[in-house]
Amino acid sequence: MKNRPSGFGIGKLPRIVRGRGSYLFDAAGKRYLDGSGGPAVFCLGHAHPEVNAAIRRQFDEIAYAYRYLFTSSALEGLTETVLRLCGGDFQDIVYSGSGSEAVESAMKIALQHFSARGSESKRRFIARRRSWHGNTLGALSISGFAQRRRAFEGSLLDVSFVSAANAYRRPDGVSESGLAAHLAAELERTILTLGPQNVAAFVFEPIVGAAGGVVPAPDGYAQAIQTVCRKYGVLLIADEVMCGAGRSGTWRALEHDGVVPDIMCIAKGLAGGYIPLGATLVTAGVAAPIHAEHGAYMTGHPFTGHTAACAAGLAVQQIVERDRLLDRVRTVGATLQASIRQTLSKFDEVGDVRGRGFFIGVELVRDRDTKLPFPAERSLSFDIGARAFADGLICYPCSGNVDGTAGDTIIIAPPYNASDAELEEIVAKLEVAVDAALSGA
Ligand code: PLP
Repeated sequence: MKNRPSGFGIGKLPRIVRGRGSYLFDAAGKRYLDGSGGPAVFCLGHAHPEVNAAIRRQFDEIAYAYRYLFTSSALEGLTETVLRLCGGDFQDIVYSGSGSEAVESAMKIALQHFSARGSESKRRFIARRRSWHGNTLGALSISGFAQRRRAFEGSLLDVSFVSAANAYRRPDGVSESGLAAHLAAELERTILTLGPQNVAAFVFEPIVGAAGGVVPAPDGYAQAIQTVCRKYGVLLIADEVMCGAGRSGTWRALEHDGVVPDIMCIAKGLAGGYIPLGATLVTAGVAAPIHAEHGAYMTGHPFTGHTAACAAGLAVQQIVERDRLLDRVRTVGATLQASIRQTLSKFDEVGDVRGRGFFIGVELVRDRDTKLPFPAERSLSFDIGARAFADGLICYPCSGNVDGTAGDTIIIAPPYNASDAELEEIVAKLEVAVDAALSGA
């Protein structure tokens, strides 16, 4: 945190007073275009009248009734909708209040599944370097993000880490076409070293968010790791908290790869930031022994399945579906990515532009050939973020994608309903901010 310039993300912040669509307004009357949906959350922008009306209606009826005593139309409607949109073999949804809790629940459900089957030795998680799964101690334990772990080392779970799946930063001597097989072999070796009887689950982000600066896995990767996991009875947990719920152009990010994980976590785009909501989806095969042995999932909170949060989520998902916004995210996302690549290509320091749908990452490097990052002390990504913010553009700067400390990326993740003109404004303002930061103007 030390290397963040003040004025971006922490310190003396402007006072927010209003949001309308893709724009936010502070108390001084300054307007900000939300080019990253905050941290890739606001999929319908701000103050959507239909979402607000649905939330108001729910509050007028009842804000929340304790999930373990009552069901509700909002909860059932959202559950039916999400299960239908996800396809695959998902059977149950365990709701929570954040992405971290959704991941925490996924870890506990994996462990409970093996306890219910009498395989109590399966306790271990394998995760990836350059990943982010959340702030709670369990989710932090499986996160390969040195900067965010450092202050808590010593109290984290003992987790095994394998390589990130990053086509731009491949291991030496590995071709792009050989990357998926190389990484699947590494996972298999890790499972065999630990002993398959000890491994509960492998957890990964299908498209890495903050820890990598939007890194989609290479083609064939998800299928290859699923094959390895199935071979050894290891559950596959997909953390789609950031890349899912339509952000990458399909409702589930892994639809792109033709893979259905055993357990999946979603949060940010589920209720689009209107009310906090996370969810853990469980496939029938994982659920069955738990229902048979324990009756219910042993994870939950007083606010599990909060009625108004579910009403917000249902309204958001109904609008996204009705307005065919994922078609827009897919097609316009490709154009937006091409436009960012083209516009920023004049900067030698822009090493890579990548992503899918409305989830786009820009990686900055000191040298395009060697891909050497800028020194962490330079705080280049936060410098760009601060300059963009001053100019009325919100983007999402991230650091540490190269070695946990160095590395600069900027995430662009607009609302799915951002207009063409707004998307053009994002690209134009991003260009100005990158130019100013690189030239030190
Ligand atoms: N997983 C991923 C992939 C995330 O990007 C995040 C948040 O940034 C989380 C989990 C944790 O979600 P939350 O911050 O809502 O607890």
